[in-house]
Amino acid sequence: MPPIRFPLSRREDARLIDLHCHSDASDGTLTPAELVDLAVATGLQALAITDHDTFEGYDAARPVAVSRGLALICGVEVGARLAGASRSAHILGYFFQDPGAELRDWLLHLQVSRRERNVALLERLQENGIRLSWDDLVSRAPRQMGRPHFAQAMVSQGYVRTLQEAFDLYLSEDGVAWTDRDEPPCEEAISRIVNAGGVACLAHPVRLSRDAARMREILSQLIPAGLGGLECHHTEHTPEDTRLLLALASDFRLVVTGGSDFHGVNKPGVSLGTGAGNVDVPASVLDKLQALCGSVQGR
Ligand code: AMP
Ligand code: FE
Ligand code: FE
Ligand code: ZN
Repeated sequence: MPPIRFPLSRREDARLIDLHCHSDASDGTLTPAELVDLAVATGLQALAITDHDTFEGYDAARPVAVSRGLALICGVEVGARLAGASRSAHILGYFFQDPGAELRDWLLHLQVSRRERNVALLERLQENGIRLSWDDLVSRAPRQMGRPHFAQAMVSQGYVRTLQEAFDLYLSEDGVAWTDRDEPPCEEAISRIVNAGGVACLAHPVRLSRDAARMREILSQLIPAGLGGLECHHTEHTPEDTRLLLALASDFRLVVTGGSDFHGVNKPGVSLGTGAGNVDVPASVLDKLQALCGSVQGR
């Protein structure tokens, strides 16, 4: 298979890239091939598929991206425990060469804890009067089941009106059926990504805090573990969030990354490339990310 061409030329820098999206290999609703087609139709210069805990979507999209001339970056998003935080952190890993068997095996191991969580979550929902069938959930999750599939089933059976209501009332950390999951510590997620030749970035940092001092603490904790980038551009970020995160990335010498976190119809109102009309990631970000990746590999 011919290599995908990096870096992008200067002329192409004006065009957008998207470094965060999900296919139906995790909890998005488009197939990997459909994602590539949408990226091309949207005029994106490059796309990273960052499914939760799996490279299956990337693997399937790669030959399609080669045939369509789209620069496709291998990515992954891993939920991880952060000491002193009430919510898990999401760590993005980006790879410019194959991440290899060790990381792939580790992701398979994470999928075991996901499955255990799914079984326990189904029971918790049942205790709260929400009767979903395992077979129905499996039919909605072609490869890997996640909470958005539970939300879909709840809407379809009339328990809630919207996916968001399913999260707010039942599935989120504050929901009545909230079921925790065994997640690796952030430091382990980061070091495994770096050891596999990737760059580890903190996804949508506002999930953890919008406070500058707290963010500084978190970054000071994760950078010694190998954190290399900060997702400054994201659909859920306000302009103030983005300004703060860009300043922090500069202070801590982290690579700026960004993306829409597109999930197809599982996240209504979020478009590939542009998010809610507020995401605008310049292609120059990719060169810096790749340069860091090279320096990590050359250590
Ligand atoms: P899981 O990996 O199965 O725990 O599901 C996590 C996914 O559920 C996230 O990646 C989002 O797609 C979605 N999600 C999590 N929390 C919320 C929320 N509060 N509102 C809407 N969607 C959410
Ligand atoms: Fe998701
Ligand atoms: Fe996330
Ligand atoms: Zn995501």
